Amino acid sequence: MNYLKSTPDSEGFFGEYGGAMLPPPLEPHFKEIREAYLRISKSAEYIRDLRYIRKHFQGRPTPVSYLKNLSDKCGGAQIYAKREDLNHTGAHKLNHCMGEALLAKHMGKTKLIAETGAGQHGVALATAAAYFGMECEIHMGEIDIEKEAPNVTRMKLLGATVVPVGFGGRSLKEAVDSAFNAYVPQADTTLFAIGSVVGPHPFPMMVRDFQHIVGIEAREQFMEMTGDLPDIVAACVGGGSNAMGLFSGFMDDEGVALYGVEALGTSSNLGDHAATLTYGEDGDIHGFRTIVLKDKDGEPAPVHTIASGLDYPGVGPEHAHLHRTGRVTYTACDDKEALNAFYAISRHEGIIPALESAHAIAFAMREAPKHPGKSILLNLSGRGDKDIDYVTETFGFGEAD
Ligand SMILES: *Cc1c(COP(=O)(O)O)cnc(C)c1O
Repeated sequence: MNYLKSTPDSEGFFGEYGGAMLPPPLEPHFKEIREAYLRISKSAEYIRDLRYIRKHFQGRPTPVSYLKNLSDKCGGAQIYAKREDLNHTGAHKLNHCMGEALLAKHMGKTKLIAETGAGQHGVALATAAAYFGMECEIHMGEIDIEKEAPNVTRMKLLGATVVPVGFGGRSLKEAVDSAFNAYVPQADTTLFAIGSVVGPHPFPMMVRDFQHIVGIEAREQFMEMTGDLPDIVAACVGGGSNAMGLFSGFMDDEGVALYGVEALGTSSNLGDHAATLTYGEDGDIHGFRTIVLKDKDGEPAPVHTIASGLDYPGVGPEHAHLHRTGRVTYTACDDKEALNAFYAISRHEGIIPALESAHAIAFAMREAPKHPGKSILLNLSGRGDKDIDYVTETFGFGEAD
């Protein structure tokens, strides 16, 4: 049996990770989503609609680019990038948001609700809601609203209601609680749309399935370009959705080494990084079992990285499982390496990447010299327009080389 068909099990477990630990009021709603997804995602109409959207709205397939200049500079392996920065809205997130919104439509729902941290998931979901003519409610911490003003503007332009969350730390964790509380009384008409391969079953499976298109396309395109499979496939890991998308295309290719790249922030001290799989331990977070970065009281620890899309103290349960089985190797790049990669690919390839994606590029630049004659395919999960002001105001324009 192939990997994707056999994983997760019917309870949403990837080995011992995953599942759904829900407060009783949410149980029936997640059961409804689970059953609807299993039924609707197999229907010809749903599949046809999703194909149409990917081609005519999102602009898929996105290309694979050969990064010749960067490869020459690094020396060693040849580096290729799957260009999710060219997906509509500039990142891979729309792949699962369109899938979730289409599911909501087929379930007869009229509204989407979610939390957002830096605002990337909120913008992608608001885009999907506008496409389908649905209402959209995005919960966001007051601190994040201040920090991420352009994304708040985008969400509002797209017709979403942004609900400021003003209790506790006024950030992502509180936004999750606020969105869940707001969801319960309106669950009959609303779908809760999670933004990565995290959360209770069926979301880790469902979001992976929606991102699988990235891996399917990339495998075919890479074969067409080079006549072979890549030796190494790499992607950054926050919650882990862009990585699962790319990895899922190569999971059964035993000769392809898979690497997940976490954010090492400023140091390996707790609080300075977001390298969950590298430094975390088994635990529960947001309704599922996974590997978690914990503080000394066993609570999810504060995290830091230059890339706000990677700052989560947990990780998708499938990554915890793949870490445990050894099918994927997890490593980390720090802020400095990511910044260096951000400047290098901008200058040498004409691609300004998201700081999240820059972690995967940094990994490829680090590994390339060690593997002459081999190839590396990385996921360029998003474009860097959102990051240019922060980077140049804080760090300048980089060294000339
Ligand atoms: C949100 C985001 C990520 C991190 O999310 P994953 O679920 O780990 O993929 C990575 N890259 C970009 C561009 C993002 O917007």
